[in-house]
Amino acid sequence: MSSSSTTWDYAPAPESAPAEIAEAYGLFIDGEFIEALDGGSMDSIEPGTGQLLTRFAVAGQADVDAAVAAATRAQPAWAALPARERGKYLYRIARRLQERAREFAILETRDGGKPIKESRDVDIPEAAKHFFYYAGWADKLDYAFPGRRAQPVGVCAQIIPWNFPLLMAAWKLAPALACGNTVVLKPAETTPLTALRLAEVCQEVGLPQGVVNVLTGAGETGAALAAHPGVQKLAFTGSTEVGKKLAEGVAGSGKRLTLELGGKSPHIICEDASLDQAVEGIVQGIFFNQGHVCCAGSRLLVQESVQDEVVEKLAWRMQQIRVGDPLDKNTDLGAINSAGQLETIQRYLALGQEEGATLHESGQFGTLPEGGYYQRPCYFENVQPAHSIAREEIFGPVLSVMSFRTPEEAIQRANDTPYGLAAGIWTDKGSKMFELASRVRAGVVWCNTYNRFDASSPFGGYQQSGFGREGGRHGLKPYLKLTSWGAEG
Ligand code: NAD
Repeated sequence: MSSSSTTWDYAPAPESAPAEIAEAYGLFIDGEFIEALDGGSMDSIEPGTGQLLTRFAVAGQADVDAAVAAATRAQPAWAALPARERGKYLYRIARRLQERAREFAILETRDGGKPIKESRDVDIPEAAKHFFYYAGWADKLDYAFPGRRAQPVGVCAQIIPWNFPLLMAAWKLAPALACGNTVVLKPAETTPLTALRLAEVCQEVGLPQGVVNVLTGAGETGAALAAHPGVQKLAFTGSTEVGKKLAEGVAGSGKRLTLELGGKSPHIICEDASLDQAVEGIVQGIFFNQGHVCCAGSRLLVQESVQDEVVEKLAWRMQQIRVGDPLDKNTDLGAINSAGQLETIQRYLALGQEEGATLHESGQFGTLPEGGYYQRPCYFENVQPAHSIAREEIFGPVLSVMSFRTPEEAIQRANDTPYGLAAGIWTDKGSKMFELASRVRAGVVWCNTYNRFDASSPFGGYQQSGFGREGGRHGLKPYLKLTSWGAEG
């Protein structure tokens, strides 16, 4: 036991399974990996080391045209397949993800910086679950919406962020394919690897050419894809800023749109809550995965009578979090996804102090690995509701602690935000739980737990956190034209 620590120091336990990474990757169009037509490419940096990991192609307008054309050609035959056959392809993808889970987990961790235990235990199994779940719906669409005729929408453009790269791809691809649509997917520029490996899986399972296409690149590629006239439906997960631009661009085009955007989700801890349990939920909800979770519980509202006790427990628990090499199985908090994101987090840490809040940062477990992008977990006290750190999404392991006196005040403070993605309520009283949950404006409300997901439950936001739902039966709807029997869609 180290003299400075209150917990055991472990010997390093790096993940050692092989996961090959090529020097460069092409675009996946019409069932094949090809170079970008203008030869453009970008570097992918490993956040844990700050070193070059690989290079990947950047799709230009001509590549976007080719991918949309491939998806358009493939769509009628894909939709015409017996639905149970479409379901079988999804099952096969899910099984291959399970079989190659360890390899996918390593790629996700090296590419994105998240701890291996999280990629291994959450991201990859949940991604497989989504394919299994929607495989089951493929031949039951008419039962999902009784009395309505369900038909595919057509070609779907799907643009995803870097925080859950494979899982976000699965959330989007699985329902779209189950419903008979074809897809052009654009992963984030800092995390393209697992989407490209998923394209390989599509080849392995014999998915017909053009049904799934993967275009790598940055915002310009995304913008060209979103604006393409051959796209019938746009699904976007990412920042509110980009979501707003896309909503403006799509307006009047007849394209369908769903947006899953940012958040500033509150936890409400009442004085009668089990405080140890609540603190554990808060720690998991904001510090693990580096706070790179859209629904991260980044605002803590705690009842005044238990504030000191909660903060004391939080400070102790935060010291036990191991920040370090993402590939080490002991690591709780890995690397920040990019140098740019680390800068954003550090800018907010400085801004919070300038605004008058008090910063507490964990100093445990010696030095951080060299070269990578690391940020220790921290929380702010003396936060006013008007402070930027209480209002803006930081997307890092940073918690703002505020207090309330009455449940009424808790609701008013929880709802004092332009967002509305998630909330956590901690109380021992069932009636209080229902009362608070029904009045918090958030797409998901967890009670006495946090960050629980299931392929069968819908997820999505209110206000500037977006609209539309992913997951569950609700997640099918954006990918279907629903008409009365006999009417044309
Ligand atoms: P981002 O908006 O910068 O990028 C998201 C994706 O959009 C990337 O693939 C990017 O290349 C692309 N993009 C960028 N500019 C574009 C443009 N003008 N047109 C089209 N595409 C463009 O977001 P990010 O920084 O990658 O991700 C973090 C954000 O995502 C956070 O705000 C987080 O809350 C949000 N998020 C939300 C959910 C949810 O379900 N609500 C889930 C995960 C992440």
